[in-house]
Amino acid sequence: MIALAQLPLLPSIILGSVLGLLAGSFLAALVTRWPKGKSVMRGRSACDACGRRLRATEIVPIVSMAIQRGRCRGCHAPIDGLHWKMEMGGGLIGLASACLWPMPHALGGMIFGWMLLALALLDARHFWLPDALTLPLLFLALTIGPLTTGISFADAAIGAATGYGSLLAVASVYRRMRGREGLGLGDAKLLGALGAWFGWQALPMILLIASVSALVWVAGVSMLTRRKLDSAHKLPFGLFLCLAAVPLTALRTLWL
Ligand SMILES: [Zn+2]
Repeated sequence: MIALAQLPLLPSIILGSVLGLLAGSFLAALVTRWPKGKSVMRGRSACDACGRRLRATEIVPIVSMAIQRGRCRGCHAPIDGLHWKMEMGGGLIGLASACLWPMPHALGGMIFGWMLLALALLDARHFWLPDALTLPLLFLALTIGPLTTGISFADAAIGAATGYGSLLAVASVYRRMRGREGLGLGDAKLLGALGAWFGWQALPMILLIASVSALVWVAGVSMLTRRKLDSAHKLPFGLFLCLAAVPLTALRTLWL
């Protein structure tokens, strides 16, 4: 049997993409079912609208999207497009990780990316960054992170503490000044995990990319909907923190 570490590029790209498609499909079920309190493990292979059991070709979201145009074959209810989009997203993360890192380190990058994908979508749709995902992400960043990215454990630990501490401080100052919650602690835990993964040195860059993209998004929405968004408007900041990981990973692995 060939060891993972000796896997040449093409087989590891195929392995990464296939694992990514499977992970993306599972995470789509997680993002659509978890907030409703439904089980992710049970009932995944049935239509959410009519409960009809899905056939083999219907379980793979991309295939079912292509054949049935995004509708259930039984009741014709529209299937949430998130399923095939997240399957594609998971596949792309698997493929990119296999290109950026050698096996088995690429597996660490994939798992980190898939968890960020789920967190980004949960925050975008429900303004929710569950501890059950942010804390394992932090654990992963502190354990497998240094092995994958090559940064020292000390830089990772300082990154976790500084990332979490800085947003915790911002949240408590805001609460004291405005008398209401402005920033969720999920955002602080997420920034802690990103600080651990990329090292404390990357924190200003992560915050800069996330803030600028959030501002661009607000300006874009204001322009398109022709209404001014005030300070009480909710913004999924966690989504922008997750997005910041993409250019940062590219910078780290390709140019630095
Ligand atoms: Zn149905």
